[in-house]
Amino acid sequence: MIIFFLVGLTVHVVFFISIFDIYFTSPLVHGMTPQATPLAPPASRLVLVVADGLRADSLFTLLPNGSSRAPYLRGNIEKRGTWGVSHTRVPTESRPGHVALIAGFYEDVSAVAKGWKENPVEFDSVFNESSHTWCWGSPDILPMFAKGATGDHVYTHTYSAEEEDFASTDASKLDSWVFTQVTSFFHSAKSNSSLNATLHEDKNIFFLHLLGIDTNGHAHRPMSQEYLDNIGLVDAGVSHLVSVVEDFFGYDGKTAYVFTSDHGMTNWGSHGAGHPSETLTPLVVWGAGVQGAKTVTEPQPYSDGYLKDWKLEHIQRVDVNQADIAPLMASLIGVPIPVNSVGVLPLLYLNNTHRFKAESMYTNAIQVLEQFKISLCRSLISHSLEGLVYYHTYDRFFLGCSVVLGFVGWTSYVVLLILKTHASLNRHPNLTGQIPSLYLARLCICVTVVIAVFLFIQRSPITYYIYCLLPVPVWYATRSLSWFLGCLCLAVFPLMPVVGRDYNTCHNAYNCVVVLRFLILNYCPSIPQMIHVAVCSCVPFLTHSSLQQKQGLPLLNQIISWTTLVSSIVVPLLSSTRLFHRLLSIFLSLTATYLLLSTGSEALFPPVLSWLMFVWINIEQEAMLAQGVSSRQELSTIDFSANIDITKIRQLKLDDIRRSYFLYPCIFIITAFFGTGNIASINRSVYVIIPFIIVMCTFETIQVATQLSSRSISHYVIVMSMTIFLMLLSVVTHILTSQRLILWRKPKMHFP
Ligand SMILES: [Zn+2]
Repeated sequence: MIIFFLVGLTVHVVFFISIFDIYFTSPLVHGMTPQATPLAPPASRLVLVVADGLRADSLFTLLPNGSSRAPYLRGNIEKRGTWGVSHTRVPTESRPGHVALIAGFYEDVSAVAKGWKENPVEFDSVFNESSHTWCWGSPDILPMFAKGATGDHVYTHTYSAEEEDFASTDASKLDSWVFTQVTSFFHSAKSNSSLNATLHEDKNIFFLHLLGIDTNGHAHRPMSQEYLDNIGLVDAGVSHLVSVVEDFFGYDGKTAYVFTSDHGMTNWGSHGAGHPSETLTPLVVWGAGVQGAKTVTEPQPYSDGYLKDWKLEHIQRVDVNQADIAPLMASLIGVPIPVNSVGVLPLLYLNNTHRFKAESMYTNAIQVLEQFKISLCRSLISHSLEGLVYYHTYDRFFLGCSVVLGFVGWTSYVVLLILKTHASLNRHPNLTGQIPSLYLARLCICVTVVIAVFLFIQRSPITYYIYCLLPVPVWYATRSLSWFLGCLCLAVFPLMPVVGRDYNTCHNAYNCVVVLRFLILNYCPSIPQMIHVAVCSCVPFLTHSSLQQKQGLPLLNQIISWTTLVSSIVVPLLSSTRLFHRLLSIFLSLTATYLLLSTGSEALFPPVLSWLMFVWINIEQEAMLAQGVSSRQELSTIDFSANIDITKIRQLKLDDIRRSYFLYPCIFIITAFFGTGNIASINRSVYVIIPFIIVMCTFETIQVATQLSSRSISHYVIVMSMTIFLMLLSVVTHILTSQRLILWRKPKMHFP
């Protein structure tokens, strides 16, 4: 159940993370040149007022008595400026809204993971492009634009987060604070000559962030008196602000004003989603360079019915997307459009020459095109690099395999050649001139043709033919496939998981291997033992299914297991000491024990190892056959116990060193396999010893067959490897192979 839970959790986490790769990819590219209109801008400075959380309809709708709750802004709409609805996008949150307004792009959505607080990536903004920007308002919004700006030309004035408490009873105090601060700022600037000079520079921006309406909306809902009264307070504040600014700059007519909101609010006081009450925000622009109110007589191309509700059918309405406000502000004061902006300059807001409008649109187009070019180049480069790597390494794997195969074949051939030379096979032409199987020759020709055709189709260079065709004759010459395949199979085991948990089909495969092998060998001296092996291969399966059904460990299985463990060392002693009979008996009883201890693919390890060991014995036999020392028929009749005869022991020969070298790889293969396993528990140590015993028994067989004292050569090996462990095993092996227990004696017959 816990595993199921964890798997479910993982699946869901992966799918959750995938959304960031699929949808939340950063829209930002870097490396563009900022683009500005070369003509003189109409405004020297810009005042941006953002009333956080102000709905379009809350501002534009008239009171029942026909007056507006925001008379100053209504006056601007009807006389001095241009107005419209600014359409925001989801998520309708403060941060993405401000980024769209000021930087001109829709927020990098990956910022959601950071709670919309910090810049996930650096971005350009109108503030960054300005000469100086002064900001007043909430500590949640202002710092991100100051942080994103290069240099220190963005100044922020915020109340601290704790100080927000001063507005806990009346949130509109947040807005009063901002207006008071701005008024006193301009007041103090009059007596501060350096600040005064800075303020009179071109391309300055003043940004007022008013959080009161949003806070009141959350607390009391947008239909509440608090929310609506706050709109009136903001309207009066803006009116006063304009008079302060105009007074400071001597009514020079060089100031542009933008009043808007970052997002709306639902009737129940929330925002973030895509309801029209959240996405429709007001936009009122007036001042230097801005088109004055235009009276229209025809119906306007807006079918949403708001114009009638707001009684503004006669005034031209120009809707924009929120990001369009950034190029509009940039155009008014003549700064480059923020490089990541996707906004389109709303020309109808501009009161300027046709040339200026054309130049501004051209700048806007170039600026967007720059981004497109950069993105296009990025993807082109990465695709090209991928393609380049693909073609560079196209033949690498194929050629590598061919060369490795060739090398392995060559090595095997050399080893075989040394073996045969040592065994003086040349003296026996009937053996060296073995006629290779016709099938093998045909197979080799087929493989050659297939490879050649493949290379021809690929139009490979001539060297490729050499690399790929060389392994064929090498392997044909080697033909020691059995040994090679055995080694290969054994080499697979270290790659497999060592400790399996579930019973798997390997046991069944194991059964097939065991039965088939002995049937093929036609060598069935111990049928009861084979049945025993078959039973043992079923025991883990029965135990597993029983445990799964929560029925505990079956008693029968326990009995079989313990009996097998104990008998595995005793049963072989009961069999004949004739070479193959005894060896087979040992292998069978050991594999039965091993089966009980293994749950996974490692069950196949003993049969593969035994197979390899039989191949080894065969090779040694062939070598001896060539030397005329022994013969195959004699080998099967050799007795382990008969070898004690001291007179038959011969001197050490070069062949014996080779044999001991063969022993090393076997030991090392096993060590490599079990070195990764857990050998801490007792059952594991039994488990580790079994393959060692199999190898050592084979070694003993070879010693006996080659008529060399097993103990002396064993000691030689021990000295070489300096392993006491091997010595102990050698003794065990010797006992296992040479002793015979007689359980009952025929009673002596006494003849009277
Ligand atoms: Zn907001």
